[in-house]
Amino acid sequence: MTLSSPTLDTVVIGAGPAGVGTGLALSAVTSLTLGVVERGSVGETFRRWPGEQRFLTPSFTGNGFGATDLNAVHPKTSPAFSLGIDYPSGAEYARYLGSVVKHFGLPVLGDTEVIEVRTTDDGFTVYTNRGPMAAHTLVWAGGEFHAPASARFNGSTVVDHSSTDVAWSRREGRVVVIGGYESGIDIACHHVALGATVTVLDPEHPWDAATGSDPSFNLAPRSQHKLARAKATGRLTLSSDGMVVAVKPASSGTFSVSIAGLGAVLADSRPILATGFGPGLGPVSRMFARRDDGWPELDANDESTITPGLFLSGPSVRHAGLKFCFVYKFRQRYAHIARVIGERLGKDCDALEQWRDAGMLTDDLSCCAVECPC
Ligand SMILES: Cc1cc2nc3c(=O)[nH]c(=O)nc-3n(C[C@H](O)[C@H](O)[C@H](O)COP(=O)(O)OP(=O)(O)OC[C@H]3O[C@@H](n4cnc5c(N)ncnc54)[C@H](O)[C@@H]3O)c2cc1C
Repeated sequence: MTLSSPTLDTVVIGAGPAGVGTGLALSAVTSLTLGVVERGSVGETFRRWPGEQRFLTPSFTGNGFGATDLNAVHPKTSPAFSLGIDYPSGAEYARYLGSVVKHFGLPVLGDTEVIEVRTTDDGFTVYTNRGPMAAHTLVWAGGEFHAPASARFNGSTVVDHSSTDVAWSRREGRVVVIGGYESGIDIACHHVALGATVTVLDPEHPWDAATGSDPSFNLAPRSQHKLARAKATGRLTLSSDGMVVAVKPASSGTFSVSIAGLGAVLADSRPILATGFGPGLGPVSRMFARRDDGWPELDANDESTITPGLFLSGPSVRHAGLKFCFVYKFRQRYAHIARVIGERLGKDCDALEQWRDAGMLTDDLSCCAVECPC
């Protein structure tokens, strides 16, 4: 694929797990022409993960018995097998994605940033930093790492986001983490393990959630285990006393974190913001309607309700109360999107049944979110 290729059947924007996985499913559709464009290299987000961060969903080589590795993006691959590790770091997972792209010969154009997208009579023109390209359909798989949720209090310039290396570097004394779901608990436990005294502030107290077995709403088992170990040190406080309303520098290099209706908590370093990401739709932002909660409105095929031919793949996918924010969840839609695109263009999509056989295709969303009885 080059930028001067004739109009492609589909272009996928982004070469993270969503873009690579959807690209691989699309390439199983007979004679469909496609390209993946990526502003950096394959797995760019994972290359940028802080070095200390690791997956919280485990990888395991269960593929041969129908238990496809939870972090795999193609039915015949397993990060546990190719990396020899169960909880990969970002750099390791990027290596897995790169090897998958190479093995299957997925056409990925790196160093190509999509700046703007316009609709045309027969699809889309995608304007990149290296020139325009044309496609009949488009899949946005740009992820959300580049769009950290901004702080909803005064003082956002004196906090460090949990996705930055500096937030993970050793800190002395009192550490304050704002946000207590996965990323907040992860980084809080990390600093407790390094010897700091940590306070996590979150009025929603997500660490207590016991609403079911879905890790989108409850801490994953690995995080629960880390949390128990951190609590046992006596140096971790979990506080749901109120909303953080302001952060400001205080005397002697400390920082004061004010909580609504209460006093302030002091930190000996810049507080850490762990309030999540997304939805990060970049240049296609205006091509999606929004739900009341701000996430993109999709039809049952993960297609924009206002821009026909534009699909969303990745962790920002939401259907009613379902969140597809882990690889093992959003990968359920790669083959579905590929089938919808392929069938519209009159192509043979039979090879996509391989995804269903591997437990990697959910086209009936009513089957999701079943709870474990014990
Ligand atoms: C800290 C953290 C920990 C997580 N841990 C787990 C976990 O343990 N297990 C799990 O299953 N999930 C986890 N997730 C969730 C999910 O797996 C990740 O968010 C994952 O990166 C999403 O994949 P993606 O392909 O949608 O996005 P990304 O991996 O971010 O890929 C998007 C790609 O698009 C490119 N891009 C963006 N904009 C443009 C543009 N305009 N033009 C061209 N290219 C562009 C980016 O460079 C990037 O390579 C975690 C997420 C975070 C943030």
